[in-house]
Amino acid sequence: MKTYCVTGGAGFIGSHLCERLLALGHRVVCIDNFNDAYDYRIKIRNILNSTGSLTTFQFTGKETDLLHLQQAVRGDSFKLVVADIRHVDELVSAFGREQIDAVIHLAAMAGVRPSIEEPLLYEDVNVKGTLTVLEAMRRQGIRKWLCASSSSVYGNNAKVPFAEEDIVDRSISPYAATKKACEVLGHAYYHLHGIDTVMLRFFTVYGERQRPDLAIHKFVGMLERGEPLTVYGNGSSRRDYTYIGDIVNGLVGALAYVESEEKVYEIVNLGTNRTISLLELIRGIEQAYGKEAELRWLANQPGDVEQTYADISKANRLFGYDPQTDFAEGLHKFVNWYRGNRYGQALDRRADL
Ligand code: NAD
Repeated sequence: MKTYCVTGGAGFIGSHLCERLLALGHRVVCIDNFNDAYDYRIKIRNILNSTGSLTTFQFTGKETDLLHLQQAVRGDSFKLVVADIRHVDELVSAFGREQIDAVIHLAAMAGVRPSIEEPLLYEDVNVKGTLTVLEAMRRQGIRKWLCASSSSVYGNNAKVPFAEEDIVDRSISPYAATKKACEVLGHAYYHLHGIDTVMLRFFTVYGERQRPDLAIHKFVGMLERGEPLTVYGNGSSRRDYTYIGDIVNGLVGALAYVESEEKVYEIVNLGTNRTISLLELIRGIEQAYGKEAELRWLANQPGDVEQTYADISKANRLFGYDPQTDFAEGLHKFVNWYRGNRYGQALDRRADL
């Protein structure tokens, strides 16, 4: 049994990772500040689901809800620390109370478009926050970590599929630039302090508990409410969508790899190695949801890349990564979760909870 710290463990990817680590018999220290990038109550629900805790929860107000949550999930194997990754003392004391074997750093301001509106916040959380996590690890002698990077660092890379050795110094959004900065900071701490590192470039992750601001979740919500789907560009932009279960397999594989190796600094793509156009995505959602969509066409969004497409041979070679989820199957899983998730639907309808 190991003890892992997951930053951002209340979020979409983090809550699935916590759930898997617990199922594998490990202890998890989850650090999250339940920020307001989207409704904190979704994140409370994520934690309750991933720890198999209470099924009902009375929401009264953020502060008391978080205290109530901490009590509800308290146990030997899971510990929730409500803290901000930008505060080194909070991290040092959270790390210091436990024997942490490795950190999986997922906490961030995620998403390209809002980063254009709030670049300073993105820089503060993603760059200073990541440096603070590294510094707290150094002070506490933690020498292994995984860190979330993003396919967005490739920008409008001319060559496809995108490979890790491609030179990426042409970010087209503040978000992408902050993720590139995380990769560079990680290398400095690896070089200076021997912190073994795997940087994971995730390619558009989808599935149960997907963030409400991401396309699949937004489109299904629009269908549910009988609204037209807002489509940016002409529908030809392409994404390498990756199912959450495959991403968690990749995280667990990368964790085993970074723990078993010495002197490691690797950047690794976690995608699926196939691309799907926006129009194909919409047709797939219509099929999974069983309803035809009305489309409302809007101009391309600045900062959005034309396509993402992952070469995943390195992840396969290093730790056997082999995503298996068929896209139609993954969409069905999302739609089934969405339909069964009274809580998420109520939020989408902006109804009272
Ligand atoms: P998410 O927003 O659901 O999760 C991020 C979590 O971090 C949230 O629970 C949030 O409360 C927490 N957090 C944010 N700022 C914090 C702070 N200052 N202190 C403590 N906690 C803080 O996002 P996600 O989709 O689960 O993404 C997880 C990671 O993966 C992020 O680093 C994101 O940039 C990266 N990523 C995600 C995708 C994707 O498709 N979802 C793609 C590429 C990269």
